[in-house]
Amino acid sequence: MVYGTVYPKNETFDKRIIEQLNSIVPGGVSDKEADRIVYSKDYWPIALRWYLDGTVPALPDCIVWPENAEQVAGIIKLANDWRTPVVPYGEGSGVVGGAVPVKGGIVVDMRKMDRVVEIDDASLMVTAQTGINGMNLERHLDREGYTMGHIPQSLYCSSLGGWLACRAAGQFSTKYGKIEDIVVAIEAVLADGSFIKSKAVPRSSTGPSVERLLLGSEGTLGIITEATLKIWPYPEERAMVSFIFDSISHALETVRKIMRKNVYPAVVRIYDKNETLRHFYIKNKCMLILLMEGDKELVKLEKGISVKVCKSEDGNECGEEPVLHWLDMRFNVKESSEFTPKGFIFDTVEVSSGWKNAMSLYKAIIQAMRNVDGVVVASGHASHFYPQGVCFYFTFGGLPPKHVTPFKFYESVWDAIMEACLREHGSISHHHGIGLMRAKWLKEEMGERMSILKKIKKVIDPNNIMNPGKMGVGNEE
Ligand SMILES: Cc1cc2nc3c(=O)[nH]c(=O)nc-3n(C[C@H](O)[C@H](O)[C@H](O)COP(=O)(O)OP(=O)(O)OC[C@H]3O[C@@H](n4cnc5c(N)ncnc54)[C@H](O)[C@@H]3O)c2cc1C
Repeated sequence: MVYGTVYPKNETFDKRIIEQLNSIVPGGVSDKEADRIVYSKDYWPIALRWYLDGTVPALPDCIVWPENAEQVAGIIKLANDWRTPVVPYGEGSGVVGGAVPVKGGIVVDMRKMDRVVEIDDASLMVTAQTGINGMNLERHLDREGYTMGHIPQSLYCSSLGGWLACRAAGQFSTKYGKIEDIVVAIEAVLADGSFIKSKAVPRSSTGPSVERLLLGSEGTLGIITEATLKIWPYPEERAMVSFIFDSISHALETVRKIMRKNVYPAVVRIYDKNETLRHFYIKNKCMLILLMEGDKELVKLEKGISVKVCKSEDGNECGEEPVLHWLDMRFNVKESSEFTPKGFIFDTVEVSSGWKNAMSLYKAIIQAMRNVDGVVVASGHASHFYPQGVCFYFTFGGLPPKHVTPFKFYESVWDAIMEACLREHGSISHHHGIGLMRAKWLKEEMGERMSILKKIKKVIDPNNIMNPGKMGVGNEE
């Protein structure tokens, strides 16, 4: 081995585990060095920096590709017997290090469990295995005349299981909801190898929804193997409109008023002045884009109401063009991959806020980023909206000053953002989750609830085999 690792190697892994895994998943196991390097990271931007510098974030001991839930249960039981870590892996598009195997062990890549099990037209539901790629699931539904309405920017490179495990949010979420609103039922294998499965019914009043503990658990409690989601008839009509405003506070106030009317455009996005210039080439203004879709008459009504509010708030109408531009560019992630090899440290951080504190939180976070020595880009947009508040999505970039390591610089900006967010009463993550990057902040975010989360983890996973080292919930902290 000619390279170093950021996290120490697992020295306790017993090679007999590979043999036993092979009997559970014949031909579906690898401990080849090339495979172990591939699964040493996810899309966490700082991990790419380490990679380019010749350091591997963390090596798993092997990778296994199960084809059904029984095999998943077999793998987890075996891991429990050997007390070896299990790291669930969807497509590795997580951006906070959630799938990095920091304690080594077995990476369980779910991509072979990619079947659409059933579309129930009468109940408007689809059931699929969780290793399915997001775009493949949406394409399958589109062909049959439906949409699930969950379209994250990472649609092409993320899985259903990853969405559920991270509580993802799609770009059309203001109308269709986030993944926890869209999911109806799940099947999962818990840390002791036992199965849980909930019923595909719209609602039950049968005590706490135990299975919902898995949503947002980021692989620390078990592996979600199948899920039933709400779907919708493919939209009959789409309407697009955009407005520019003199300030972000004005644009935010406009959308707050639209939301109060119980009108839910599918896509609502507000870009601050820096991002309006970057994405739409308009100086000193803030762009608001709106996209409505669904039933023809409803779309007409939603557009009419939204336009009326925008005009009454002195918005200047810019037509469809900016929305079409956004639709063309929405899966383009070139920026991040282009700048990292040049030494630029770059990331995005999403947080949420109630309307009352939204503007002060936005200002505090922009200022906090700018205060860190070396930061040259600090901007934001608002991407998901509720009658109660908003999700801000910030971007920072810069070059570490002399004698500051890339990680130290990166961590300083993150710390500044997290501190400002908590000070301004925001939540530290709207949809990317906790992983490694936010783990040290979760305690402050959760307060007393953190000790309950730790107790739950201990009951479900007493041997701490499921994705250890993540979210600050295991017994290693
Ligand atoms: C370019 C880009 C754009 C993005 N845009 C969005 C966006 O619009 N909205 C959004 O919400 N996120 C976005 N993300 C973040 C990321 O795509 C999501 O967090 C996604 O949910 C991760 O899915 P994945 O399948 O790649 O999971 P992975 O990265 O493989 O895993 C993420 C976490 O989930 C766990 N996990 C994975 N599968 C399972 C399973 N079946 N059971 C239990 N645990 C599991 C892993 O252990 C890990 O902790 C973006 C990422 C990138 C790189």
